Amino acid sequence: MSIPKTFSEARSALAKGASVTDLAHRSLAEAEARKDLNAFLQLFPESAPAKAAEVDAKLKAGTAGPLAGLLVSIKDNICYKGHRVGASSRILEGFTSLYSATVVERLLAADAVIIGRTNCDEFAMGSSNENSAYGNVKNPMDPTKVPGGSSGGAAASVAAGIVHVAFGSDTGGSIRQPASFTGTVGFKPTYGRVSRYGLIAFASSFDQIGPLAHNVEDAAAAYSVIAGSDPHDSTTSRKPNAPIALSNPGKLRIGYFREGLERAGMDTEVVAHLQAHIDRLKREGHTVEPVEVPLLDHQVPTYYILATAEASSNLARFDGIHYGHHSKQAQGVEETYRLSRTEGFGAEVKRRILLGTFVLSAGYYDAYYGQAQRVRRILRDRTLEAFGRFDLLLGPTCPGTAFAPGEITDPVAMYLQDIFTVQANLAGTPAISLPTGTHSNGLPFGVQLMAKPFDEALLFAASKTLFGA
Ligand code: GLN
Repeated sequence: MSIPKTFSEARSALAKGASVTDLAHRSLAEAEARKDLNAFLQLFPESAPAKAAEVDAKLKAGTAGPLAGLLVSIKDNICYKGHRVGASSRILEGFTSLYSATVVERLLAADAVIIGRTNCDEFAMGSSNENSAYGNVKNPMDPTKVPGGSSGGAAASVAAGIVHVAFGSDTGGSIRQPASFTGTVGFKPTYGRVSRYGLIAFASSFDQIGPLAHNVEDAAAAYSVIAGSDPHDSTTSRKPNAPIALSNPGKLRIGYFREGLERAGMDTEVVAHLQAHIDRLKREGHTVEPVEVPLLDHQVPTYYILATAEASSNLARFDGIHYGHHSKQAQGVEETYRLSRTEGFGAEVKRRILLGTFVLSAGYYDAYYGQAQRVRRILRDRTLEAFGRFDLLLGPTCPGTAFAPGEITDPVAMYLQDIFTVQANLAGTPAISLPTGTHSNGLPFGVQLMAKPFDEALLFAASKTLFGA
């Protein structure tokens, strides 16, 4: 028997006498029954029921936390003490977390139950989950299609109704794009709003952990618990968390990305859907005007220069000695590094380490890395400028719907999946993908809303009241 679909349904089931233990067992059973999806790398059949029993006792005593009854999954790059974690990479094979991510600590303190860890692209690098060392994830909406990436298992775990909320990470779109592909809500917080402590780093100036859920309410409930400053992560903001109310924000000024409608290669139904929202919002009395996406054609190259540069540095720690895989053939230190990394990393990760090392190398640093940093600054300034005129920015999440595994083989074509999502990461703004569309091919797709930094309260409220998500 599957679980009540949303957190509020789970809470009413609890009020009617169901137990969290029962819900946790149902979730684990459902995950087993949907093994074909390959969404989970591991279930937690011991710690999940144990936590659930603890929550049941707290519910009886009237001391349960705000997330009592919420079942969640964590992406395989989020550390949970005593549980394995591997970023879907061979190089971390057999590695067990020595401590929990702040996000995990906060979820447990709020009495959420963590069901298992989800498959993803290796080190969160990808847009289709095809880069996992542990195989593809199937899209629950159509198993012949990818679920998106890199948080593909996370998206699938929600879309298949196994958990209420999945925690993914978003460096260039990895929460929002899989949300769009699976018909779920996917939210990336403002950079610095959620602690990255215990998140296996991909690109540290971009990475944020965030929720995927069936609706905005569940995403907001989960986000509210994980948000806030953390002494373990000096890049978190000390700003107090704004309470999330989901009440009607009134008439808004909304800028829409004209390029999202006009760009070549856009799916015509995605365009028509966005246009229909624009027309409706105008009729409802909002001010809706076109806005130019700043430096659109430079965003993806800028992102890939900076993200690979940061990744090449972050991944230097995987040396065959400190963590996980150690080459059996290797003799001596140098060979240990070389062979362990050669055997442990997959092709896409290697490509990115090479690219990142190249753009940081003495002879090319100014031409690539330095230049990309300057472009990033201009892009951030122009994005913030747009928020002087608009409360929200609206556009497509992706150019189209989910594709088949193997359909996109050119890495550069794959990188273009991120065309509408990387702006929020480059500029550090919050952004959300809302599952408002269904294509004539039967697949879901999303629209994306962005707000100015730390305005997640408006973003959630508008998502709910303007888009019914
Ligand atoms: N698809 C992008 C990439 O491959 C985004 C990844 C992410 O957000 N983790 O880099």
